[in-house]
Amino acid sequence: MFDKVLIANRGEIALRILRACKEIGIATVAVHSTADADAMHVRLADESVCIGPPPAAESYLNIPRLLAACEITGADAIHPGYGFLSENARFAEILEEHDITFIGPTSEHIRIMGDKIEAKATAKRLGIPVVPGSDGAITSEAQAQKVAKAMGFPVLVKAAAGGGGRGMKVAHSAAELDIALKTARAEAKAAFGDDAVYLEKYLSKPRHIEVQVFGDGRGNAIHLGERDCSLQRRHQKVLEEAPSPALNPEQRRQIGSTVASAMQKLKYRGAGTVEFLYEDGQFYFIEMNTRLQVEHPVTEMITGLDLVIEQIRIASGAPMTLTQEDVTFSGHAIECRINAENPRTFTPSPGTITYWHPPGGLGVRVDSGVYQGYRIPPFYDSLIGKLIVHGKNRNECLMRLKRCLSEFVIDGIETTIPLFADLVQQPDIANGLYDIHWLEKYLKKD
Ligand code: ADP
Repeated sequence: MFDKVLIANRGEIALRILRACKEIGIATVAVHSTADADAMHVRLADESVCIGPPPAAESYLNIPRLLAACEITGADAIHPGYGFLSENARFAEILEEHDITFIGPTSEHIRIMGDKIEAKATAKRLGIPVVPGSDGAITSEAQAQKVAKAMGFPVLVKAAAGGGGRGMKVAHSAAELDIALKTARAEAKAAFGDDAVYLEKYLSKPRHIEVQVFGDGRGNAIHLGERDCSLQRRHQKVLEEAPSPALNPEQRRQIGSTVASAMQKLKYRGAGTVEFLYEDGQFYFIEMNTRLQVEHPVTEMITGLDLVIEQIRIASGAPMTLTQEDVTFSGHAIECRINAENPRTFTPSPGTITYWHPPGGLGVRVDSGVYQGYRIPPFYDSLIGKLIVHGKNRNECLMRLKRCLSEFVIDGIETTIPLFADLVQQPDIANGLYDIHWLEKYLKKD
């Protein structure tokens, strides 16, 4: 097992990882930019190193500075969290070269899954159903028109290097397709430095359902059930739940075992998420995330497993002790992403938290790195915490969530709590009847 883990992240996920390390007796190193000197994970870590000024490129994304921090502190492993360098294959490779363990999959698997075109081809080869689309990248407008015509409009132009919903454009007709190609390419080039795009059938009313997997890198892999992340705004998840209200136990078992057996063939190591769109009883692979997800707590709540501790164990070379039969699902969990944003316009609302009263009680978990008096810096993502609620069944979970949202007080800044308080009152949410477009339509209504 590792003696000391360096946490190459910030905010709630840095604290989440720190907690796991503490529980299994591993010393922790926090790294931070000058804007995060007062962060909770910095205060609670055994050691901390300032790695640069506020811009992420000069701190959290700066590989030489992270290596120097490892060297100074003697950390023998790095947990990348999510975002930042978590899906950077080159980073994983550099750590391998420096004998520092990257708590995650191999750099080869990160690279394959980081290119969505290659990821789709790999998924197909491993027996996972994929969204119909172009075989590989689009090389000319004429080819795109031909593929789109064969599939039927609407189609979606997607960036091979895509992430965070960027570089994605819908086209309803041949004329729209030319424009969509140009704008998606420009957006992809600007955001990822790579303008490769591909085409996919645009599904009109799918749910986003993803399967959590775990492998040991030696051919053993299991699934930990699914999460339904259909409540989205601008292709970004807002609320997640497990299990999905749309699946029955047999469907769950089927998709889970398809994914687990694909991961066994791939010899995948660590935690990963295979994302699908689900429409009319069919699953269609869209991408795989080779890291811990923001929404991992809903899986933890219904399985009783600590995914971060499992990641650390596997990265240290320990064998998988869990078998598929050991994994049982109990009750229902929902997560709300609490952002420092206006709940209607979603404009960021950084500033000082003058009052902080999180909810508590049975089945309630608040993952957050903030505290009363903390000043949210304007430089990073607006996620300031996650409210995760567990209940014996979906109904109890929703009742508890309503109660928690009414108890949660954050003053000094605007947050998305009022949006969730509205959402839990909606009959469609109560009945689990929503697809990936539901939230955008709801927000347009008033
Ligand atoms: P990113 O990596 O940018 O998040 P994804 O491929 O994971 O991109 O897709 C993000 C979201 O975009 C999905 O959850 C879904 O809402 C929407 N989406 C992606 N592909 C399709 C598709 N073929 N049809 C309809 N919606 C899609």
